[in-house]
Amino acid sequence: MFVTRKAEFSASHVCRVPELSDAENRELYGEEANPNGHGHNYVLEVTLEGEPDPVTGMVLDLKRVKEILEEEVVEPMDHRFLNYEVTPFDRVVPTAANIAREIWRRLEKRFDDPQFRLERVRLYETSDLYVDVLAEDLAEKAALGEELAA
Ligand SMILES: [Zn+2]
Repeated sequence: MFVTRKAEFSASHVCRVPELSDAENRELYGEEANPNGHGHNYVLEVTLEGEPDPVTGMVLDLKRVKEILEEEVVEPMDHRFLNYEVTPFDRVVPTAANIAREIWRRLEKRFDDPQFRLERVRLYETSDLYVDVLAEDLAEKAALGEELAA
C-alpha cells in the first residue's frame, strides 16, 4: 500500500553554473538564471510504501511523517534563498531535480523502518512542472554502479 503526504514551502533560487558566463547561463536556464533570483511555491509529495499494521490499520504514524517533513524540508527551506542559506545549494545548482534529490537524501535516513520504505519524492516547482525521484531508479543505478565497479 502507498501513502502520500504533502507539504509546501516557498523558496527563492537562481539557476546558474558559476564557471559559465551570464550569457551562457541564460542560454541554459533562461529566466531561471536571473542573478537576482526569484521565488517558487514548491509542493512536495512524499510517498511511502508499506503494509498496514493489523491492529492500528495504519501503514505508519502520519503525525510522525508530518513532523519529519517539517524538520527535514519545511523548516530548513521555507522562506529561504536556497543558494545562500541551504546546503548543498551553495555548490549544487538548485534545479527542481537537484532539490528533489536533496529532499530524498534527507528523508531516506529518517524512513529506515523495516515496516515501510520511501518510494517516491515528487516535487512541483510550478503547478504544471514536477520531478520524481523513485526508489526503483535509485536501486537500478546502485545495481549498475556495482556492475561497473565489478
Ligand atoms: Zn525558478
